Amino acid sequence: MKEKSERRKTRRIVPALLGWFAAHARDLPWRRTRDAYAIWVSEVMLQQTQVKTVLPYWERWMKAMPDVRALGRARSRTLHKLWEGLGYYTRVRNMQKAARLIVAQHGGKFPQKFEEVLALPGIGRYTAGAICSIAFNHPTPIVDGNVARVLARVFGVEGEVRDKDVRERLWELAGELVGEAQNFKLRASNFNETSNSKLQKETTAPLTTDTAQSRGSFHVSLFTYHAFGCSHLNQSLMELGALVCTPKGPRCEVCPVATNCVAFREGRVEELPVMGARQRTTQRRFVAVALQRKGSFFVQQRPGGIVNGHLWEFPNVEVGLRSNGRREAKRMLGENGAVSEPFCTIKHSITRYRITMEVFRARGELTNEWGPPSLKLWRTSQTNGDGKWLRPEQLRRLPFASAHRKVLEKLLGETGKLKTGK
Ligand code: SF4
Repeated sequence: MKEKSERRKTRRIVPALLGWFAAHARDLPWRRTRDAYAIWVSEVMLQQTQVKTVLPYWERWMKAMPDVRALGRARSRTLHKLWEGLGYYTRVRNMQKAARLIVAQHGGKFPQKFEEVLALPGIGRYTAGAICSIAFNHPTPIVDGNVARVLARVFGVEGEVRDKDVRERLWELAGELVGEAQNFKLRASNFNETSNSKLQKETTAPLTTDTAQSRGSFHVSLFTYHAFGCSHLNQSLMELGALVCTPKGPRCEVCPVATNCVAFREGRVEELPVMGARQRTTQRRFVAVALQRKGSFFVQQRPGGIVNGHLWEFPNVEVGLRSNGRREAKRMLGENGAVSEPFCTIKHSITRYRITMEVFRARGELTNEWGPPSLKLWRTSQTNGDGKWLRPEQLRRLPFASAHRKVLEKLLGETGKLKTGK
């Protein structure tokens, strides 16, 4: 009985979502293509990152790396530079591994089978589902944060969304919806003007704004249902979560599925989804030194396998929250270091860490007499080629960790010699 009513609900929701998406979807550059590679790039960039931030990155990337072969051949530094500021740099290294595999095993053609896409490095269930549905219109479900929120509210899914069983339930619902969207294209072929008008009424009824636009686009969109039902359904869930069914202050009054939404009907929109306790944030403090010699600054490359691996940074050390920053900077440099007053303070966040980095300028040479452990490390790395004295025009070509990029920009702004090249 419950199954039947849920099936009926799914049948009502799918056309409502498709109609809404046709009328209200944002015009994003990766929505103008069916190229799986371009869609993959957008999906990876969009993880943990907002659309407006991703837009210029995606455009730049697609110009520099237009296909998997270009990505497979690219130099590591070029890739990191293109990704600089997006964070989670393992993603870009995995993308290159995946691109090389696609060239080696699939002749450079993006695989279409879900299992083959899922087998690529760095691609999980969500990304594989997104690529296969959006690019190839396969009925592969997707559940990310936005989709989980929409589904939990519409279907009244109880329990913490991080709970394994709850996640599985959400995947199941997402699968039913996209499966229905695949079937929907068959029924859509029987559309006539009567069913068209009826559907239009259903799908746009709750919308009080942009009605004319909705109707105009809706008619056009009927044609696309035949070809892209699964693609559009999955994107409609993401889009609804991003634009309407937001974590705070959802706009239920213009939501296309309000009449079928359990949370809305029962006045539980604020309660669902159940998120569980948030991880507590931790404060951390670092001291960094912009060490200058003539026109050059000393920078070092972080090793692989750690946060921000392979990126460049100014020498720095983690210190106690209450320690004296200037004293710590002097200790880093040893007796010969001439440390100035604080140059700047950078605040940033990585996952649950709230990081403050106090930066000092210093002048001097690296000599063998200098003995602090951290400096010894730099000397070693310098001889290994990981630490270097570089001029501004050389620095701006390197990919920097975000906080250190900000320091560099301030230094360059101060000297008036550099532009970031962004
Ligand atoms: Fe979200 Fe409100 Fe729409 Fe329900 S009615 S899906 S809570 S925006």
